[in-house]
Amino acid sequence: MKSSLKKRLVLAFLSTIIVPILVAILTLYLGANQLPNEDDQLDQLFTDVKKEIRMKEDELPNSDVFYKEIKPLLDRYDMNVTIHTKENEIIFDSRNYREADDVNSFLPNFKTFTIQVQPEDNIIWDVTIHANSSQSEPFKRMTFIIRVLLLGIGMGFLTLILMIVIWTMYISRTVLTPLKHIYQATEEMREGNLDYPIKYKKRDEIGRFIQGFNVMRQHVKDSFKKQKQYEDSRKELIASISHDLRTPLSSIKGYVEGLRDGIVQNEEMKQRYLQVIHDKTAHLDHLIEDLFEFSKTEVNQLPIEKEVVNASNYFEKLLTKHQFELRKQEVELTYPAEIEPVTILIDPMRMEQVMSNLIINAVRYGSDRIEIDVQIDQLKGHLVVSVIDNGQGIEPEDIPYIFTSFYRGEKSRPTKDGGSGLGLSIVKYIVKAHEGDIHVESEKEKGSTFVFTLPLYVKGNLSKIDE
Ligand code: ADP
Repeated sequence: MKSSLKKRLVLAFLSTIIVPILVAILTLYLGANQLPNEDDQLDQLFTDVKKEIRMKEDELPNSDVFYKEIKPLLDRYDMNVTIHTKENEIIFDSRNYREADDVNSFLPNFKTFTIQVQPEDNIIWDVTIHANSSQSEPFKRMTFIIRVLLLGIGMGFLTLILMIVIWTMYISRTVLTPLKHIYQATEEMREGNLDYPIKYKKRDEIGRFIQGFNVMRQHVKDSFKKQKQYEDSRKELIASISHDLRTPLSSIKGYVEGLRDGIVQNEEMKQRYLQVIHDKTAHLDHLIEDLFEFSKTEVNQLPIEKEVVNASNYFEKLLTKHQFELRKQEVELTYPAEIEPVTILIDPMRMEQVMSNLIINAVRYGSDRIEIDVQIDQLKGHLVVSVIDNGQGIEPEDIPYIFTSFYRGEKSRPTKDGGSGLGLSIVKYIVKAHEGDIHVESEKEKGSTFVFTLPLYVKGNLSKIDE
């Protein structure tokens, strides 16, 4: 049941008022039903008193005799009577003869009744009846009514207390206990324990608050975890940068020392030494360049300056250049004879970087006879560029990580010409900045296919082509 805390509080408040009243009314009702059926008992008493006084009226001048005459009646009802004239002159008062007014009643009106008796045509007396005890009939009835009234009030009061106790327990269970848990959880969080979920199933305000609290705790936990990963990757970064820079540097140092110490005996050896030094410096340069670019992608500051480009002209020029360069290394690069002259919006320099990175990787991780095929197609409003190699392929367990910075797959890979592990993360950054996407399909020992997409634009008004 989804009941809000507000509703429950209102219900608690109302029921605390209403239920005791109902219980009191019910008790009164049931009590009233139990009331002895003595409605006419008082009438009977009054009739008896009137009759007796009229009958014994003659004896009135002598009070003693009159008292004796009416004593059985007084005994029967355990009462006293006082007879007055209209002028308030007391004619007779039985209280002079018998103990009077021991009525233990706290409602004084119930102990006296005044009736009128007409002994003769033009005389009217007031007769006051004093009940001596509330235990004798019909005065008992009054006591009964008072008892029922008291019982009703008592029951109402007891129910009120019961309701207060029940609701206090309920509110404490549904509000205070969860609050206590929240307090405990904040204490645990303060101590650094972020694995302390608060269990509360209801979907009321507190439930929603706790849900929010749990989400916040999870966020804090995740961000701590991320922070930790970030710190770890920083440490790894520094370690790997130092390692990557030191390896070529120490070999450059070795060769330079060789030259300095005159180990080189002939021109051919000198040229070889210089070539190694040149290659290592180029490698160092490449590493530093990657690092530099990466640091800019990290803070989203790698400048991307897009311009409208004809895909056909652009890729043909770029691929011809690469084909020429690769031929020197005996690497075969093929690409479509005709590329559709569609419009793309790219940063030509950055896109060249993407292509070079993919092609350099295809060479670096290639087999003995490296063949690279570039295909350019169109699909759902996108240009789809595939770089297919016949190289060593990627281990399936490495595939999900190769676009992650500093991730270098396949431990067996020789480190002498190893990259920085940054190339593909920079490639992905650039492709994403062009609103495209990149993925890889690869099979060990068969080769890899890197596929990236770029949105196509309508020539002239620069709106994207619908998918
Ligand atoms: P690196 O500087 O190490 O080449 P990259 O980010 O360019 O870093 O690539 C990450 C990893 O992905 C490489 O270490 C390599 O294991 C794998 N890889 C990338 N391209 C290819 C490819 N064409 N064939 C096989 N493995 C590749």
